[in-house]
Amino acid sequence: MSHKAWYHKGLRFQCTQCGNCCTSHGEYAYVYLAEADVRAIAAHLGMERAAFLERWCTEDEGYTILRMDAPACPFLTEERGCAIYPVRPKQCATWPFWEDNLDRARWEGPVKECCPGIDSGPLYSAEEIERIARETEEWYG
Ligand code: SF4
Ligand code: SF4
Repeated sequence: MSHKAWYHKGLRFQCTQCGNCCTSHGEYAYVYLAEADVRAIAAHLGMERAAFLERWCTEDEGYTILRMDAPACPFLTEERGCAIYPVRPKQCATWPFWEDNLDRARWEGPVKECCPGIDSGPLYSAEEIERIARETEEWYG
């Protein structure tokens, strides 16, 4: 419940576009794609769904993920931008407000260590944070 959560006064976040979260960090190694992501990104790239899956994706325990042949996401540009920004996967759009990350130790530990945008910028209310986390969970089903 929001009023009891450790982040009940909200959390600040503003992306500095450092590109850190688009680069593999152990447990943050995977970019998951829901079917809606697959279709949107394939269409954005002007590719058939099957060709997109073949070229850019692989499977992990039944989930479709971007194929990371290098530590950095294949869509991370040299300018540290996202080449598919308008259709980037849901988890990219909703970072850092994922359900798992709302564990205080995780937020103040690995999440903050990975992301310099934590604790700066606009304040997100507990309700908004939980809405984003819920939306992300539902997206991936
Ligand atoms: S690690 Fe944080 S600040 Fe850096 S690109 Fe990712 S969201 Fe933005
Ligand atoms: S798809 Fe874009 S936002 Fe997501 S990890 Fe790759 S470069 Fe980063």
